[in-house]
Amino acid sequence: MCKLEFNELLSLIFGKKIEETTGEVVENTITETECPTPSEKPLEIIEIEMKNVVICLDNGHGDNTPGKCSPWSACKVPPELPFREYAYTRELVKMLTPVLEEEGYEVYQVVPEEYDVTLAERCSRINKKVKQAAAEGKHSLMISIHNNAAGNGREWKKAYGWSVWTTRGQNNSDKLAQCLYDAAVEVLTPLGQKTRKDRSDGDDDYEAGFYITKGSNCPAVLVENMFQDCIDEVKWMLTDEGKQALVEIHRRGINKFVEMMNW
Ligand SMILES: [Zn+2]
Repeated sequence: MCKLEFNELLSLIFGKKIEETTGEVVENTITETECPTPSEKPLEIIEIEMKNVVICLDNGHGDNTPGKCSPWSACKVPPELPFREYAYTRELVKMLTPVLEEEGYEVYQVVPEEYDVTLAERCSRINKKVKQAAAEGKHSLMISIHNNAAGNGREWKKAYGWSVWTTRGQNNSDKLAQCLYDAAVEVLTPLGQKTRKDRSDGDDDYEAGFYITKGSNCPAVLVENMFQDCIDEVKWMLTDEGKQALVEIHRRGINKFVEMMNW
């Protein structure tokens, strides 16, 4: 840490030095070795245009939830790929939050705790936030971030692919899901990764009666970010490329939806 006198500070900001006795301005004579400081670079001011949208990010389960992990983490079935859904989804939410904030969204982390929080409590937190946002003239949406599994975690399975889920019937949640699905195809295809879809009701999302999507008073979807019991997918999900790609799907999908809704 280097202590700066007022004059030195001025000289760093303006590249000039004010002579103490005469008040004359002289060229900056401070060299890097005397005081290497990052403030010699001009300050960059990044302006973020705030959007009137709150993104509620839910992350699945908790450190006290049994199962919900790779067969290696459950019972040491090789290959050695440690993976727990509660931890991975929290990591994704932590990575996604500043990315969305930089896009101008307000982000609300529904479960900052490491342990599991009941679905009723999660919905109550979400709806409180949605209500508060509406009172401030803001729109809201909710994404519950999970990983899929084909079995009970005791053996590696063959199922693969990213997917998105809504409640039954058509509403704005289906639009949000379609935007996320389209983003997933764009992001994953060039990386050789796959999505899975259900075209039976005319769109690409799956539909189910999940508590969290049914109980949220805003466009709400649940995303299954690949399979935690598929060897190839877990290998990929643990890489930087995998994590960045999953974050990018959410960023791009949310932007598409917000634009479509004219929010
Ligand atoms: Zn889950």
